[in-house]
Amino acid sequence: MSLFPSLFKIIRKGKCLFLLLLCLCVVAWIATFSNDDTDKAVQDGSNSPDDKGVGGFAQMELESEMMQSVEERVEEQAAKESCPEQSPLLRGAIKLSFDPSLTIGQVESENGEVVEGQYNPSDCTARQSVAILIPHRNREKHLLYLLHHLHPFLQRQQLHYAIYAGDATFNRAKLLNVGYLEALNDQSWDCFIFHDVDLVPENDHNLYMCEEQPKHLVVGRNSTGYKLRYKGYFGGVSAMTKEQFLKVNGFPNSYWGWGGEDDDLRIRVTLQKMSIIRPSSQVARYTMVFHKRDSGNQINKDRMRLLRRTHQAWKTDGLNSCSYKVLSVHRAPLFINITVDIGRPERAH
Ligand code: UDP
Ligand code: MN
Repeated sequence: MSLFPSLFKIIRKGKCLFLLLLCLCVVAWIATFSNDDTDKAVQDGSNSPDDKGVGGFAQMELESEMMQSVEERVEEQAAKESCPEQSPLLRGAIKLSFDPSLTIGQVESENGEVVEGQYNPSDCTARQSVAILIPHRNREKHLLYLLHHLHPFLQRQQLHYAIYAGDATFNRAKLLNVGYLEALNDQSWDCFIFHDVDLVPENDHNLYMCEEQPKHLVVGRNSTGYKLRYKGYFGGVSAMTKEQFLKVNGFPNSYWGWGGEDDDLRIRVTLQKMSIIRPSSQVARYTMVFHKRDSGNQINKDRMRLLRRTHQAWKTDGLNSCSYKVLSVHRAPLFINITVDIGRPERAH
């Protein structure tokens, strides 16, 4: 690595040399990616470096260009002050819209500052880096509505964030484990938001940040008359730090179909002597986009039996036993879509 700073010094010595180098980079870039696209297939859950036959020389030029921009960004970041404790951009309760004719192109053009699902405030250093994990399958319209509202919402909270959305055979909990592991492979995040695709936050004072204790963000939703679904409910949208989630060994991997996995996470949290905190019911309000129960996500009839063994099973069923195969990572403009093979239930229920 120490090769690069000295390389920059040489580069900076002459503008002409730099321009020449830049031209070479452009030529190398075109040559390298002329028959490639932005999709990247990664095998066995590891983000191993891509070796698509890039020539040694061209690769060096590209890396030096990338390192330079990283260096510039680090310098810029150091010069910026930390964002204020309360963002001046918050607006409180927001009127949400769900226009059936909304398109992804429109949402992309409204969010020009988001690059590959990621945003960093330009005028201050965000207080937390937050990965938003959205498990989804066959809910494209819901994802579109959520992206439409969530990007501006998170930007008003002055967060550094990225949105990861995963798509596979349905097992919400395991997909969220995969999201956590893959997001950490990508970058070092402080905080994780586990987010249903159909829940749109109504008030930007509901902060997508982590706290001393795990936080549950959906106190009320329109479909339940804005009441907590039941005492101890920990589903829908929740926030945990990297350490809190690791401490409970993540979600269980063994809940296929609908229900139980959020209760399992609550049990894991209490077993670790942590407690669940919630923002006020005035603020933690959501609109759920209407839907029926999805096919392929039937009620998990085994959930009560599974919940009875959580106090033992949490040690071996979780992040430390989460096996999967990443089929593709697509860096779309507004989110990073990870398609995974998470396998099938061990036995039919
Ligand atoms: N989900 C999905 N496709 C499915 C089933 C579930 O994307 O076929 C995801 C989606 O994020 C959804 C979450 O799992 O919001 C929870 O499922 P659901 O909305 O059915 O639960 P409920 O409405 O009862 O909270
Ligand atoms: Mn739902």
